[in-house]
Amino acid sequence: MASQSNPTEELKVFISTRESSCGECGENLGSKAWITLFKEKGALCLACADLDHLVFLPSADAALTRRAKKHSTLSAVVLKWSRARNRYERQGLMVEEQALEKAEEECLADSEVRERRREREAVRREESDGQYVERFAQRVRELFPACPRGRETAIAEHACRKYSGRVGRSASAKSLGEDAVRLAVIAHIRHRETDYDRLLARGYDRREARMEVESAVGKVLRSWEAQG
Ligand SMILES: [Zn+2]
Repeated sequence: MASQSNPTEELKVFISTRESSCGECGENLGSKAWITLFKEKGALCLACADLDHLVFLPSADAALTRRAKKHSTLSAVVLKWSRARNRYERQGLMVEEQALEKAEEECLADSEVRERRREREAVRREESDGQYVERFAQRVRELFPACPRGRETAIAEHACRKYSGRVGRSASAKSLGEDAVRLAVIAHIRHRETDYDRLLARGYDRREARMEVESAVGKVLRSWEAQG
């Protein structure tokens, strides 16, 4: 059925060194974009590759990296071409935010780690427009009254994050259109409530993985829509 690549092969994200545009959404990504490469489509932006929910962890801290990777269902190595050395060099790892937090907790004795988390949170606050996030979250709550407490904020923050996909920035999302909000909720459910990330980590392509989890997504969506 699924055309899986070698499951032991790590997913790779490249920091590109030349002008590129996304083979799926067509967006011009500039000359230093973070991209993934797919055979038939060439460069894909992280939003289209469905990796934009991952956070970047620079390789500086080996213990933290090892733990974060262990806790993350889906992770990707970040590579950058070194002209001087004529080879790709590892910059760090993209992991699930919860995995990073769990790993940080395990390393919490280390005060440097705490400092780094504070910095990361400050950057994130700067990146998202607080009021817009709040309105987006309210809209999620209206449309999906039974969604678990706190998820509306997670969904809104992700959808609104500047570097994230087009969902939070499209005109429809700006006006908090039902379709845009629904798309953000579906993306969240896919990553958090289904095996989707596990399938991607095992080498499924996104289309196959989406088909695989479609009914599970629908089920959660309907249960979150339920009134009372
Ligand atoms: Zn794209």
